[in-house]
Amino acid sequence: MQPETLASTRRSDAAHETNPHVSDHDPQWNLIHWRRILPTLSIHLLCLGVIWVGWSWAAVIAALALYLVRMFAITAFYHRYFSHRTFRTHRATQFIFAAIGASSAQRGPLWWAAHHREHHRRSDREGDVHSPGLQGVLWSHFGWFLAEPNIPTNYKATPDLVKFPELVWINRWHVAPVLALAAFTWLLGAGLAKWAPGLGTSGAQMFVWGFAISTVLLHHATFTINSLAHMFGRKRYPTNDDSRNNLLLAIITLGEGWHNNHHYAPGAARQGFYWWEIDISYYVLALMRRLGLVWDLNPAPERVYRQSARIEEVAEVEEVRA
Ligand SMILES: [Zn+2]
Ligand SMILES: [Zn+2]
Repeated sequence: MQPETLASTRRSDAAHETNPHVSDHDPQWNLIHWRRILPTLSIHLLCLGVIWVGWSWAAVIAALALYLVRMFAITAFYHRYFSHRTFRTHRATQFIFAAIGASSAQRGPLWWAAHHREHHRRSDREGDVHSPGLQGVLWSHFGWFLAEPNIPTNYKATPDLVKFPELVWINRWHVAPVLALAAFTWLLGAGLAKWAPGLGTSGAQMFVWGFAISTVLLHHATFTINSLAHMFGRKRYPTNDDSRNNLLLAIITLGEGWHNNHHYAPGAARQGFYWWEIDISYYVLALMRRLGLVWDLNPAPERVYRQSARIEEVAEVEEVRA
């Protein structure tokens, strides 16, 4: 099947209703200016350095650890805290996680929250900047992130966050944590090479794995929620969009794959509503609550469980009829 045909079959009904003239050859791709995407492109190219630096367990473990810590900062803080305010925390904690989140090279917390709030207002309808049904899967995955009009922060969309000058500062200087992490991984590798040569790592190797590979994996895993989680999986709740629940995406994003749940109840701190819906970010938040680091976690609303029960009843009746 031609990519064009494949993309068109994925278009949602919502997309047709709102804009029947959408096309895949879109001038939308002209909105990407090469000069502006050089930083993102460079991090991807740096992964090729693995050909020269090789690997070691120390480097792979560091890459995984940095992926997990930063994915938690993105899902629990950039998303559930800054974008949706689903729990409360101290000013210092919010700043620390804003900085860790920024080291993911997904821009600042205010930029992220402003775009995400807009996504919830217009999911899969005209005005949604990343909808696979409207603009094609590649655009919803990374095209929108690189497009010139989407690069500035709309501070008006985050009046609750603008109140904190330190958050505005980190949003403006979001590149600083990225560079700090890059330098840290190099120094860590160089230090280990000197003091623990048995680990077989080096500054360059730790930089390629801990910084470049870890960041690229983190990018694409996060972006699947805008692309694949609006295409593949189960739709439990009748939301006005194409959001889906997907176990695999929930595992790689520490809980964000329960995206249909999330679109149905975006104010809940948890996205997995049942014990079998693995939501690691929520488990960590629950642990942080015990330690007094976060509080007032919004529970999943009652209607979530009433609606699930209603859907199951309908399914049973249909089974009996069949
Ligand atoms: Zn969504
Ligand atoms: Zn959301």
